[in-house]
Formats: sequence, C-alpha cells, structure tokens
Amino acid sequence: MENIRDITDEEKELNLLFLERLMEGCYIDSLTGSFYCKECNCPISIDWGHHIAFCVKGGKLCICVNKEDVQNRVKSGKRALEILSARYAKGEITKKKFEKMKKDLEE
Ligand SMILES: [Zn+2]
Repeated sequence: MENIRDITDEEKELNLLFLERLMEGCYIDSLTGSFYCKECNCPISIDWGHHIAFCVKGGKLCICVNKEDVQNRVKSGKRALEILSARYAKGEITKKKFEKMKKDLEE
C-alpha cells in the first residue's frame, strides 16, 4: 500500500461541512447508498476533491452544493468561534459555558 497523504484539519472540516450541506439538499437511498437531489430526485454526482455535488436533469445541470456554499459556511463558523473565543478571553463567559457553546458550534 502506498502512503496516503494526511488530510489537513481544514480539509476535514470542509468535507464535513460539505456533507452537512449535502444532507440538507439531498437524501440517501437506503438501498443503493447513493445521494439523490431533493429538488429533482436525480442521482447526484459528487466531486469530493472540489466539494461540488450536482445532478443533470433533462440536459440541464442542477448544482446542489458547491464549494462556495461550503466555504461560506466555514467562514461563518470560524467567525462565530472567533467571537466566542474573544468573549471567553475577556472573561465574559465561563470555561464551562465556552466549552459547551464551542461544542454546539461544532455540531
Ligand atoms: Zn437537482
């Protein structure tokens, strides 16, 4: 076996958020394990490397999740965490509350 390149935390985060977005716009067929678009019920092609999920309906491309969606989410998540960390650093919230809120954000 060749060594598989370690994936970075950022990539892991992107993949998770991508999956999360995917679960909002798509559903999984329990028989085949494939993703389907909630909008047009088409099977979805997933490009994990580029964080894009799409389906083709009647020759028209329907993009279900794209990289921008995911990146925006990463940004807003990071922003929230920054604000939270700043509040904790200033002593506005307790460690317990900080840990709890951080966990909530990550869920
Ligand atoms: Zn679709």
